[in-house]
Amino acid sequence: MVHDVVIVGSGPAGYTAAIYAARAQLKPVLVAGAVTAGGALMNTTEVENFPGFPEGIQGPDLMNNMMEQAEKFGTDIRYEDVVKLELAGEVKRVHLEDEVLETRTVIFSTGSAYRKLGLEEEDKYSGHGVSYCATCDGFFFRDQDIIVVGGGDSAMEEATFLTTFAKSVTVVHRRDELRASAAMAKRALENPKINFAWNSRVSALHGEGALESVTLTDTVTGQTRELEATGLFVAIGSTPRSELVRDQLELDAAGYVVVSHPSTRTNVPGVFACGDVADPTYRQAITAAASGTRAALDAQHYLAELN
Ligand code: NAP
Repeated sequence: MVHDVVIVGSGPAGYTAAIYAARAQLKPVLVAGAVTAGGALMNTTEVENFPGFPEGIQGPDLMNNMMEQAEKFGTDIRYEDVVKLELAGEVKRVHLEDEVLETRTVIFSTGSAYRKLGLEEEDKYSGHGVSYCATCDGFFFRDQDIIVVGGGDSAMEEATFLTTFAKSVTVVHRRDELRASAAMAKRALENPKINFAWNSRVSALHGEGALESVTLTDTVTGQTRELEATGLFVAIGSTPRSELVRDQLELDAAGYVVVSHPSTRTNVPGVFACGDVADPTYRQAITAAASGTRAALDAQHYLAELN
C-alpha cells in the first residue's frame, strides 16, 4: 500500500498537518517518536499565548488535545522513531524499526533539540546536576541553589518555574539585557527568589561526581568567580533536528530545512517541511501549527496534480 501522506514529527506542526490532512480524507500516518511524542511543549508548563485559552493551558494538555483531534479525524499515529528516509522519486520510503512505509508525500516536522553549552565536562554532569528541562527535573532540586543559563523566554520560564522548588535561582546571562518577551522578563525580574548574573558565562563545572559549583567568567572584563550551585539548567535555545534529511534536503548554514516561502515545499518534490525544523525566526507553537496547516494544504495540492 502506498500512503498519500506520512508526517514525521508530533509537535504542533505535525499534529496540525495531521488534522488538516485527515479532514481532507488523505488518511495520514503520523510517526510520533518512541519517547519524544508531543515535542518541546511536553516539557513546558503554562502556555499563555496560544489563542483560544484565555486562562492559559499546560503544554502537555495542549499537545494531548491536538493528538486527540488528529486521531478523531482518522490519523494513524505510530509511537515509533523513523530510522531512515528515502525521499527521492515519486514514492518515498519512511523506515521505522520493523516496517517501511511507502508514501507519495512526506511532511517533515521534527522540531528542534536543546542547545548545549559546549563545555568539556557538560556530558559528565548531565543527569548529575546539569539539566535541559526544568519541568522534567526541577523536583529533584528542592531547597537547593540553582543556576539557569540564558536570557530568552525559555530561561525566564524555567527560572520562574524553579522558584517553586529552589532555595535560590541565579540567571546567568551573557549580556546585560534580556532577549525574553517583556511579560516573561518582568515576571522573572520581579521574583524575589531570582538573582541575575549579568554579562556572565559559565566557563567550568566542578564537583565530586555531582555538580557542586561553577566558574563564571565576566564577558566584559574576563574576571572569573566561583558560584556554588547543585543544579544548572541550560536554556539557551535550540537547534533544528534535521539530521535525518541532511543529505537529502537543502539545509541552511544553521541546519534549518530550506522551504520556498510562503509554501512549505522543500527542494525535493512531494516533501514538505514545517514547524521549528524549518523556522529559524519565529519558533512559536502557533506559528508551527500554522505552518503545519500550510504543509497539509501544499501536500494536498501536490497530490491533486499527480492524479
Ligand atoms: P532564544 O530566544 O534563542 O534565546 C536563547 C538565549 O540563550 C539568548 O538569551 C541567548 O543570548 C542565550 N544563548 C544562546 N547561546 C548561548 C551560549 N552558547 N551561551 C550562553 N548563552 C547563550 O531561545 P529560547 O529562549 O529557547 O526561545 C526560543 C523560542 O521559543 C523563542 O521564539 C521564544 O519566544 C519561544 N518560547 C516561548 C515561550 C512562551 O511564550 N511561553 C516559552 C519558551 C520559548 P543572547 O540574548 O545574547 O543571544
